[in-house]
Amino acid sequence: MSDGVPDREEAERRDAANPLAGFRSRFVGLADERPYLMGNSLGPLPRATEEALARFTRDGWGGRKVEGWHDWLDLPVRVGDRLGRLVGAGPGQVALGDSTSVQLHKLVAAALDARPEATAVALADDEFPTDRYVVAALAAARGLDVRVVATDGPDGPITAESVTATCADGAVAVLVASLVRFRSGALADAAAVTAAAQGHGALVLWDLSHAVGAVPVALDEVGADLAVGCTYKYLNGGPGAPAFAYRAARHAGTLLQPVHGWFGQADQFALTAAYAPAADARQLVVGTPPVAGLVAVEQGVALVEEAGIDALRRVGQEQVAFGIALADGLADRGVGVITPRDPDARGAHLALRHPRAPELVAALLDRGVVVDARAPDVIRLAAAPLHTRFVDVWRALDALGRLLAT
Ligand SMILES: *Cc1c(COP(=O)(O)O)cnc(C)c1O
Repeated sequence: MSDGVPDREEAERRDAANPLAGFRSRFVGLADERPYLMGNSLGPLPRATEEALARFTRDGWGGRKVEGWHDWLDLPVRVGDRLGRLVGAGPGQVALGDSTSVQLHKLVAAALDARPEATAVALADDEFPTDRYVVAALAAARGLDVRVVATDGPDGPITAESVTATCADGAVAVLVASLVRFRSGALADAAAVTAAAQGHGALVLWDLSHAVGAVPVALDEVGADLAVGCTYKYLNGGPGAPAFAYRAARHAGTLLQPVHGWFGQADQFALTAAYAPAADARQLVVGTPPVAGLVAVEQGVALVEEAGIDALRRVGQEQVAFGIALADGLADRGVGVITPRDPDARGAHLALRHPRAPELVAALLDRGVVVDARAPDVIRLAAAPLHTRFVDVWRALDALGRLLAT
């Protein structure tokens, strides 16, 4: 190190001491040494998934054909229960299928149906676009107001205080918010925010897309009502992998997602004329599940289980801290850090600010450093310790420094 800025040897020392370093070889396509810092966008392909999908196509679909359904019918809730353990959800509350956007639509609609007297929906400021579109569309269709919950500064999380300020009159049906913000990586206090919203009669729906597989989540413990999240980021489920939906068990009989299909029916093969909702998480399922996608998600979940979410969290925090130390060395070249500096106040990606972010990201890609930009001026680098190395973080920031020196 010089001037407190870590050097490449320091990165290599950290990698040698990293208890999770061995997991990197369990993935396909990472042998070329290019820093892949996009685990928050599309996780790489686990070798176990490649094998499981080959087995499924050969022996399952190919071999058993229709008889395979015996084992596939309940995959949405079986994998849901397993994934649920990663987000602190007991069995019977999580199901997989559809995209995150569709899951979000189903659950926001369910929340609005459950609160017919409410006149508003609340959404965190600068929320991910799909969350904004879903809330805006459902609010418009029902003549509800959309209230924006202020964040703690432009890049900070929503807080119990800002939620109280928005929901105090008791008119809000549901608060929708990302636990980890997609731009800055700021992490909300799930327990405090949930309690604040519920204290004013609002339900709480957490979007866990940037949290699941990256930070410990305790949905049951904090008393969350609803949650959704995607499985192709830190869970490495693959492009278009089915998203999950969580509904707290206490809402099972009263808060019903409105897209009715035979897979959500209490007794699917009774083939009754009228829909009778399943009593558990199966009500969150609509139609025939995406079996290949679920086979892949299960392997991704198994890898996170094996590494342990606490170990992933710890190494992720260290890798982001390492990146922050390097970025601070570039402050005189116009690089700012917008990710919170408190490791407990952020998720697992590092967000930097520079006015030429899109152009810099394109130049980094040309040099084999895979990161992304978020308009207008943010550069994101994810620490996904199942496959990210300290030396990847070092190389990315070193390359950025060189670009800015020229
Ligand atoms: C990635 C992400 C999504 C993804 O939505 P899809 O419907 O799966 O494309 C949703 N919400 C947030 C906050 C995300 O980061």
